[in-house]
Amino acid sequence: MNISNAFNEAIHVLKSSGCATPRLDAEVILSTCLKMDRTRFHIDREQSLTENDYQEFRRCIERRRCGEPVAYIVGKKEFWSLPFEVNKHVLIPRPETEILVEEVLKVCSGRKTENLRILEIGTGSGAISIALAHELTNAQIIATDISQDAINVALRNAQINDVASQIHFLLGNLFEPVSGEFDIIVSNPPYISKEEYDCLPSGVRDFEPQTALLAGADGTLFHREIIKAGGVYLKAGGWTFMEMGDGQEELVEFMLNEFGLYDNIAFRADYAGIKRVAIARRVTTGG
Ligand code: SAM
Ligand code: GLN
Repeated sequence: MNISNAFNEAIHVLKSSGCATPRLDAEVILSTCLKMDRTRFHIDREQSLTENDYQEFRRCIERRRCGEPVAYIVGKKEFWSLPFEVNKHVLIPRPETEILVEEVLKVCSGRKTENLRILEIGTGSGAISIALAHELTNAQIIATDISQDAINVALRNAQINDVASQIHFLLGNLFEPVSGEFDIIVSNPPYISKEEYDCLPSGVRDFEPQTALLAGADGTLFHREIIKAGGVYLKAGGWTFMEMGDGQEELVEFMLNEFGLYDNIAFRADYAGIKRVAIARRVTTGG
């Protein structure tokens, strides 16, 4: 069995299972099993596979055939062009979450040398905090999660990306483990309603952690808590950034106005045109 045969066999299996990207998935899985970069993978097509490698590859393709996301099978995912380890305890970082990072960086653009205090709620793999630490090398970041398993993954990712000294990971419910005031609060909280959850693609519903996704009857449970907590944890003039789901803009905007804590309320759409990020500044007086 050489690379070419194994590759074609896997494409066939994945195609018949209805996989949307059989060639790409087979390539990523096979090159990872063989610890090859993608250039070598394409040059060394005649190279033979050891029996062990072949069996391992077949097990991985079988997992993919059953709908498991490629990132969990290969144990890694790129975010902000940085490498991240992922496993079933963390949400696979999404490309649209890079927009959240971009918006934070825009607001911080003139303040890169400051010791900004940043708080992330629900860090999962650590993707957001690690990308921010990578760009804002003087920032000090507190990142929380309710899952110790997720925090363990985030800790490893901070080490892999050489930013461990900038981030403190804390276990706990929302703001419970946090004290002090911050310049920035950022979060990609769970935002899927119960109704939407039942309709999610099976790759998400059956494999990604429910705690990372589900957020009450209308999916804005966490946004409300984060917006309220801004009154305690955001410095006057500090900013809050939250990712949200399709159709949540109106409710989130209402909540941002409800407590009289914010001005400069804005939304940024993702590449599909969905309002994906809510941005607001804590008022500098009153509130
Ligand atoms: N920040 C990561 C990202 O953008 O890829 C993960 C986001 S995921 C949508 C939400 C995260 O919030 C999960 O890691 C989940 O464990 C965490 N979470 C859920 N409920 C929480 C709570 N009550 N307090 C703190 N974190 C919570
Ligand atoms: N964007 C994710 C999805 O499509 C949801 C992430 C979240 O709830 N924060 O499943």
